[in-house]
Amino acid sequence: MELKLYNTLSKTKELFVPIDKEDIRLYVCGPTVYDLAHIGNARPVIVFDLLYRILNNIFGKDNVTYIRNITDVDDKINNRAYAEYPNIFINDAINKITAGVIKSFHEDIFSLGCLNPDFEPKATENISEMQEIILALIKSKNAYVSENHVLFDVTSYKNYGKLTNRTLKEMISGSRIEVATYKRHPLDFVLWKPSSEIEPGWMSPWGYGRPGWHLECSAMSTKYFGSHFDIHGGGIDLIFPHHENEISQSCCFHKNDKMANFFIHNGILNIEGKKMSKSLGNILKIKELLNKWPSEVIRFNMLRTHYRQPIDWTETSLKESWLILNKWYDVTEDQKIFDENNIPYEFIESLCDDLNSPLAISKLHEFYKEGNYDDLRLCGNFLGLLKIGKKDWKNWIPSASNIDVNQIEMLITEREEARKNKDFAQSDKIRDNLIAKGIKLNDNKDKTTWEVL
Ligand SMILES: [Zn+2]
Repeated sequence: MELKLYNTLSKTKELFVPIDKEDIRLYVCGPTVYDLAHIGNARPVIVFDLLYRILNNIFGKDNVTYIRNITDVDDKINNRAYAEYPNIFINDAINKITAGVIKSFHEDIFSLGCLNPDFEPKATENISEMQEIILALIKSKNAYVSENHVLFDVTSYKNYGKLTNRTLKEMISGSRIEVATYKRHPLDFVLWKPSSEIEPGWMSPWGYGRPGWHLECSAMSTKYFGSHFDIHGGGIDLIFPHHENEISQSCCFHKNDKMANFFIHNGILNIEGKKMSKSLGNILKIKELLNKWPSEVIRFNMLRTHYRQPIDWTETSLKESWLILNKWYDVTEDQKIFDENNIPYEFIESLCDDLNSPLAISKLHEFYKEGNYDDLRLCGNFLGLLKIGKKDWKNWIPSASNIDVNQIEMLITEREEARKNKDFAQSDKIRDNLIAKGIKLNDNKDKTTWEVL
């Protein structure tokens, strides 16, 4: 099976050819653990979970390694630690915050049906690896020390801006640059910065301090994957400066011209047509959604949009997702055990076309129409859907759906009774009342199902 992926490096869809087909390496930037994860954080987790499943299916699970890091040193974490635990040692306060957020993140993404990555390194556990890279970059004159900071010299790397597809000049005008006296060039970025006594820090040749964010991923990918690996993933907002800076550090450190063969980025997520932001007060936590909807509805709703497109997260689309799954759960059987090797070729083929999940989902609709319920469930399972027992599914009536499933089921039974008694006036009345509420009944041979108009 040929896998094609859109590569941000070349701005084209390319055939994926592994560096070593027995050692395929996928690195994805993970969360900064300062607060409960929101639905925007869930998008890369679900998208790259799908890619991981596809790679596993094509190349074999033993031949694929997936790393998703955890950023547990960050000013946002420090600020929360000061605010919530003002009277305890900062490192302890930080540990309290990060431990709680990591636990909650794991719960959330487990609920969303995501497979665990093979490794989940933390930034704070890789400080010496970061310092080693800084030392080498200073030696090779790609970095310099200034006012207790160490900065990467962007003019020292000829390919700086290649991923972003912009020149240094264009990048300066297009971004908010922190004006700092210790920088030689406005785009130079921090590899190491000083910490005050009340900030978290580590001893280093440049004084007590902490690493810059971009350096973390270069250090952790190097530690597990070496100088050059297959796929680097993350959200589209990470292209600049995060991934541009990762590439510069890694390529200058390893003295090569590629950090990863593929850079893959998922699109943004809006809420009801608006950007999610603190000021708008529309930040939607995964936990909040899990209280309102079955987890598969959230996962399915995410996969219904192609990963590179912006997604508009709306109550209406969640309701649609729930109704489709409801329809599918009606016809599939719980107990069957499926062999992943029997997945229809056309289904995997659609996913291999740059993770075309909407196309793959259209195959599920076709299976449903054809009455091919085994393939419906098998392929649904591959996407992380139709995994729970029918009874458990039916027991969950989403509070956000505004549809009273029990009432509909009761009316269907009442109507069946009326039909049995040849009281067609009554049975038509029930049907018309439901239509007025936007529910359409479908009379099949053995049972009546319903759908939303
Ligand atoms: Zn990263």
